[in-house]
Amino acid sequence: MVLPVFNEEIVLARTYEELRATLEGLDADWRLLFVNDGSRDGTVGVLEQLYQNDERVGYLLLSRNFGHQAALSAGLDHADTDIVVSMDADLQHPPALLQSMLAAWRAGYDVVHARKLATVDLPKARSIATSLAYKAISRVAQVEIIEQASDYRLIDRQVLDALRTLPELGRLYRGLTPWVGFRQCIVPYVAAQRAGGTSQYGLKQLGGLFARALFDFSDVPLHVGLVLGGFAMVFSVLYLSFIMLWMLLGESRPPGWASSVSVTLVLNSVILAFLGIIGVYVARLYNEVRRRPTYLLSRVRTHEPKT
Ligand code: UDP
Ligand code: MG
Repeated sequence: MVLPVFNEEIVLARTYEELRATLEGLDADWRLLFVNDGSRDGTVGVLEQLYQNDERVGYLLLSRNFGHQAALSAGLDHADTDIVVSMDADLQHPPALLQSMLAAWRAGYDVVHARKLATVDLPKARSIATSLAYKAISRVAQVEIIEQASDYRLIDRQVLDALRTLPELGRLYRGLTPWVGFRQCIVPYVAAQRAGGTSQYGLKQLGGLFARALFDFSDVPLHVGLVLGGFAMVFSVLYLSFIMLWMLLGESRPPGWASSVSVTLVLNSVILAFLGIIGVYVARLYNEVRRRPTYLLSRVRTHEPKT
């Protein structure tokens, strides 16, 4: 299991206890790999203690906070088991679900997504905002981004290898995992409240996720520019012929101030907006082309000889 952790010192020990209790009840060998995403609290101390006390626990330290998806990448890169389950470390993802996820894998599925039906006590505004964001994304995305999929997911070794072959550095696993294909299924659950601590996903992080889903999995925004520009061109040609006809008929030229101003304003704002959109893609291209690593490790603590 891969669990990204960021400032979770309060819940970590409990997460471990509950996971251990659940996993020991399953008919499978297991290991936990925590990825500390540059926590600023006592998380590392707790991790070290868990590592000392249990052969099956390991952890990676990232050199700073790289974000949830980057931490997930680090964990997946270091996993070498037949199945990998990614999970949040705050117990919002119920360990009890592991049993059905494993059963689904045994029944032949390669990817088992856990789909959140609801979150206990999530602020109303946030649940509305997320569901709107998912609706918008599923409209334009070229892969199916499973609504409310979160990052509680079981993947088979084959899928893990497939994900590793993907060249992109900026990764959104809830888009990439459906993209790779194989046999996928969904198990629903109700997310618990955080077992302690606070959510690290502010508006900024959520906005980032939304932008990633929108721009990484869709070129619809670019096409919108083309369509609008096309319409504007047709309209301009019609309008110009009208003006020329008007002048050829010897009519006095219309005063025209309002129309020139409005044409200038509308077209320029459309052009600026789509320059902005192109800018977004260029920035993303730049980030990918530069090939800076997604994360940097400062320590690897695992009981295996070497992974
Ligand atoms: N997380 C992380 N890096 C970050 C933010 C969050 O590794 O920069 C981890 C966090 O410790 C947790 C998971 O990602 O295990 C989900 O984060 P959180 O619970 O804060 O998000 P929410 O459940 O509120 O969406
Ligand atoms: Mg959470």
